[in-house]
Amino acid sequence: GRRLMSDGLTAEGKIKSLPMVYIKGEEMTRYAAQLMLENWLEPHIDTSAWEFFDLSCAARDASNDQTLKDAVAAGAKIGAIFKEPTVTPSAEQVKEFGLSKPLPSPNGAMRRGWNGVTISRDTIHIDGVELGFKSPVLFERHAVGGEYGAGWKEVGKGRLITTYFPDKESFEDGEDAIIVDARILDNERNVAVVYHNPLDNVEALAHHFFSRTLKAGVTPYVVTKKTVFKWQEPFWAIHKKVFDENYKAKFLEKGLLENTGGELQHLISDAATMQIIRWTRGGFGMSAHNYDGDMLTDEVAQVHRSPGFITSNLVGVAADGSPVKFCVLSCIASRRRRGVSATPSTCRADGVGVGATPSTRPCWSLRDLTFHLITQIKEFEASHGTVSDLWHQHLRGEPTSFNPLGMAEAVMGALSHAADLSKDEETARKTHEYVTCLRRAMHNTFKYGQGTWDMAGPSGLTTEQFVEKVGNRLSK
Ligand code: NAD
Repeated sequence: GRRLMSDGLTAEGKIKSLPMVYIKGEEMTRYAAQLMLENWLEPHIDTSAWEFFDLSCAARDASNDQTLKDAVAAGAKIGAIFKEPTVTPSAEQVKEFGLSKPLPSPNGAMRRGWNGVTISRDTIHIDGVELGFKSPVLFERHAVGGEYGAGWKEVGKGRLITTYFPDKESFEDGEDAIIVDARILDNERNVAVVYHNPLDNVEALAHHFFSRTLKAGVTPYVVTKKTVFKWQEPFWAIHKKVFDENYKAKFLEKGLLENTGGELQHLISDAATMQIIRWTRGGFGMSAHNYDGDMLTDEVAQVHRSPGFITSNLVGVAADGSPVKFCVLSCIASRRRRGVSATPSTCRADGVGVGATPSTRPCWSLRDLTFHLITQIKEFEASHGTVSDLWHQHLRGEPTSFNPLGMAEAVMGALSHAADLSKDEETARKTHEYVTCLRRAMHNTFKYGQGTWDMAGPSGLTTEQFVEKVGNRLSK
């Protein structure tokens, strides 16, 4: 804290503002985020370059959801996004809030608008504080496909035929049509469902997963139910290919495949649910389909004490044609060590330079670096919802104890990503320093037994006391 203040970067002694999107939500998390903003951020950081969007039901309803479209467009342009949890109103809430019509979940629009690849969810660890898992658990949840995008209808007895028509310029009567499935429905009542799993971005997901698990020094597992759900085989096969071709040697070198016979291991999803409870030593990563990832990360959160102790971060891809952008920091460092000139550049997933001038040599080979991939668009949020129960307690005037760690990690993630995307090196460095200070101030507060009730029990701090304590520690 002290160093930050004495650095005095702007006239008011604040760190210069980096462009970032800030999405406001609802209920307890909106209230707590506002406290964090006022007590932790605004005293130290100039927020004038942030673009704020209100995704409360009332604001979405009043603007005919223009506010969601604007937020998605701003996120695609700026790349660093923080989002508070939002409410997707149930039928009762539509009435309760007096909304003109039901509102769809904003998350789908965001995952589409930002070409979401994966939602990364990791356990948060505090030195000296024992939570559920001793070492980190890293998770990738495929951000697209599956049950969430399903089309369905309730139908009676009859025949059900699902037909695929290839995307072609000229298409004549049923030519090249493929029957995906044909079945007889002999019940009076049936629900027929169609969904698909897009596979184009699974390679990028796999690179992201393996580079993260390698960097964290944990053992990777790919989770599916492909033994029975045969259509899940490609998800595994793509991971396996990417792993064997690019990562296996490095994982072996680091001794991270000792429990898996020296190979990438597949875990059946039902077995994974049991292992998550048993493997409390942590030190593993899992990559899963969308719905499996949703379920399993809630289980990880619960084993790790509370949804407040897990991060959630949507990794997207810029729409400018570059499939994935890489942060070349580690590779620049390795080139510097070898005395090779280090020009920041961007690379494709296969390690070939993108957007490099013709005179620039193609980027270093993948084998060459412990690569660290940063896509252009990253949205950071908490993994939990709006914590309605605490909000209603708060409205009744009762004390509450909201654990803000997951949401604070999201703000810090967005700040760090804004810094990584910035060309203003000095502001970026100061922003990273601030993030380190804020994280330390929060962790120390937990460490000194001044955590929230989910950690410290009834002797812990209330929502407001915790925010104030961290704020004081940060300003010292
Ligand atoms: P929730 O995650 O808000 O709460 C579940 C339980 O965990 C509650 O008992 C809550 O008190 C506790 N909890 C969660 N986070 C906590 C924290 N940081 N500190 C202390 N306790 C914490 O889920 P819910 O109650 O099922 O949903 C509430 C609302 O949130 C719903 O309207 C739902 O639509 C919305 N929701 C939004 C998102 C999102 O925007 N990403 C995700 C899930 C749910």
